[in-house]
Amino acid sequence: MFSEKTKEEIELLRESNLLVGKTLGEVAKIIRPGISTLELDAVAEEFIRSNGAVPGFLGYGGFPNTLCISVNDEVVHGIPSAKRILQEGDIVSVDCGVLKNGYYGDSAYTFEVGEVSPEVHNLLVATKEALYKGIEQAVVGRRIGDIGSAVQNYCESRGYSVVRELVGHGVGKELHEDPQVPNYGSRGQGSKLKEGMVIAIEPMINLGERFVVMNRDGWTIRTRDGKPSAHFEHTVAVAKGRAEILSSFQYVEEVLNL
Ligand code: MG
Ligand code: MG
Repeated sequence: MFSEKTKEEIELLRESNLLVGKTLGEVAKIIRPGISTLELDAVAEEFIRSNGAVPGFLGYGGFPNTLCISVNDEVVHGIPSAKRILQEGDIVSVDCGVLKNGYYGDSAYTFEVGEVSPEVHNLLVATKEALYKGIEQAVVGRRIGDIGSAVQNYCESRGYSVVRELVGHGVGKELHEDPQVPNYGSRGQGSKLKEGMVIAIEPMINLGERFVVMNRDGWTIRTRDGKPSAHFEHTVAVAKGRAEILSSFQYVEEVLNL
């Protein structure tokens, strides 16, 4: 299902995505060595529900929790667990979705737990920057391939690799709508971007090789070579000249003093 959104729908999508941003900010406040990923999940669920929304991922395709929390070599779709205790030097990707007023929000941020190695820190910096390079292309008249090409060139020129099995997507009344938004591609290829398209752009970038495997839990995707992976995601509205970012890292970055 894909449709261009009306102005009214974009305002509703902004509200949902802003709540995702605030929820990630609440998670940012409590991330530290010694906390379990299930504790992060509980804080997010409580915050979302107290703001008149429901978790967008809970029950989606049978997913058991509110957040997807993926540590180190886990790329995406990690299941929160009381047994998964964050350690100094870990990186942790927190992906959050909400459903409010019939519209979804979807955004992700990869956090450092305590102090991480410079190599891993740089991977996170590059992945976030790659997201913004992709967003720069999300304007009327460009094509889907322009987004993927920008992300891929930025990352591969720095020696990182791009996960291909998972992609960004349209966002609306459904969490995953058309079009698919790969993080690789060729300039000038793919569907044309139109005013009112709302898409999630979400580079998943690996320190080592691009290949991924799935854990036996049927959800968690991790790198085949066991090296770390980073993930940042914004939901944006395609517009003339400059995309509008509907989600927000402001609440996270205030906590992190960035
Ligand atoms: Mg997401
Ligand atoms: Mg997404």
